[in-house]
Amino acid sequence: MQKKIAFYGKGGIGKSTTAANVSAALTEFGHQVCQIGCDPKNDSTRLLLGRVCSQTVLDMVKQYGDALQAEQIVHTGFGGVHCVEAGGPEPGVGCAGRGIIVALEKLTALQALPEEAVILYDVLGDVVCGGFAVPIREGYATDIYIVSSGELMSLYAANNIAKGIARYAARGPVRLGGIIGNSRGIANEHDLLQAFAKRLNTSLVAYIPRDRIVNKAEIHRKTVIEFAADSGQAAIYRKLANFICENAALTVPTPMTFAELEEMVLTYGDE
Ligand code: ADP
Ligand code: SF4
Ligand code: MG
Repeated sequence: MQKKIAFYGKGGIGKSTTAANVSAALTEFGHQVCQIGCDPKNDSTRLLLGRVCSQTVLDMVKQYGDALQAEQIVHTGFGGVHCVEAGGPEPGVGCAGRGIIVALEKLTALQALPEEAVILYDVLGDVVCGGFAVPIREGYATDIYIVSSGELMSLYAANNIAKGIARYAARGPVRLGGIIGNSRGIANEHDLLQAFAKRLNTSLVAYIPRDRIVNKAEIHRKTVIEFAADSGQAAIYRKLANFICENAALTVPTPMTFAELEEMVLTYGDE
């Protein structure tokens, strides 16, 4: 099976944690999986590798140039997940988006990823600039999932990401697969996220509770799937992974104005 998925969402919302758990679950189902971190933090694959990956594509390109081999940038994590970190410029210089282009082009040129695999891009989405839109703009990812809580600024980022998807959907295969709710425990959060997803012409494909097991697994540098395989939280990540594999309800999103979003948040959250 080949699937080209991306997780977008506000910084700190839980993209990498969710992505790593979904990747781990997918390997349990027998899929070949590649997780590609597109965030200058380089920590997307930490829970899969048990360490922060310091051999990013950009760093290795800088060091080895044309002599660079695929094995130097594709690292093997939990369950055999192929882990890649695109890397980024030094803080304060250069364009992170440009870095993502260079990294993804290098992966293609080296044929570094298996043909039959689920490829999951984990992309920082605070800035909905052309740079961070690269995975969807250049057709690397087609099925986009937005991770969001019910907090206004998380929904604001999600709505902006939906605007980006709508723009590129007009001339390419990119579509929205759904909203992944990652709870922050605010009032009526599930219902708000459900209404938000519906308004965007998609659905709430998971509602992940905030659970201390996630933090416990994180300090042990593991996914919940590995650290607490029999937990309810692991079951939730497995269910999401399965849904993502099967999902055929991919849509062109219909984003809203900030004023409408504010109104929606007020309707649900003011209690
Ligand atoms: P992002 O990749 O979007 O920047 P992370 O995945 O790094 O965000 O998550 C940010 C923090 O939130 C991490 O410390 C992570 O362990 C925690 N976190 C994410 N999801 C949950 C959850 N469902 N329950 C508890 N903590 C969570
Ligand atoms: Fe930063 Fe995006 Fe501008 Fe590049 S395009 S410099 S990543 S804001
Ligand atoms: Mg992250």
